[in-house]
Amino acid sequence: MRTQRQVVDYSLQKRAVLRELLAGRVGTYDVCDASPYLKNAARFHGEPTERRCPICRSENLTLVHYIYGDELKQSAGQARTLAELPVLAMTLREFQVFVVEVCLGCDWNHLVEQYLLGRDGLTGDAEGTGEQDAAGTGGAGRRRREAQR
Ligand SMILES: [Zn+2]
Repeated sequence: MRTQRQVVDYSLQKRAVLRELLAGRVGTYDVCDASPYLKNAARFHGEPTERRCPICRSENLTLVHYIYGDELKQSAGQARTLAELPVLAMTLREFQVFVVEVCLGCDWNHLVEQYLLGRDGLTGDAEGTGEQDAAGTGGAGRRRREAQR
């Protein structure tokens, strides 16, 4: 998506959890704990993938996109389909997306990545982007790129 920015990738954390599981330091009960809400979100708003669940290896993973941000008002914290995100990104200045992978077979779930979307991310081609007055509000977390490798 064009306005995607401040991407944080959680695949390292996921691999760490899977390692712990293989080593027997955590049980499947600890990691396969998708709530009924998360599973409903996966069924109704989820994005099917071709990737097999790393735990049960019998179902494909579903990605759920949760959106957060002040501009969303009462929609904050809800799941949205992937197709809805570009529309929101063109109407709102900035909102946070959390992507969670879920297995509807064994209830495995893990945060995959998070990123920002919204018109504030458009550079260059948008005319009249003189509103840089918000510099003091969200600068703290900018260009924070943890655990790249
Ligand atoms: Zn599974």
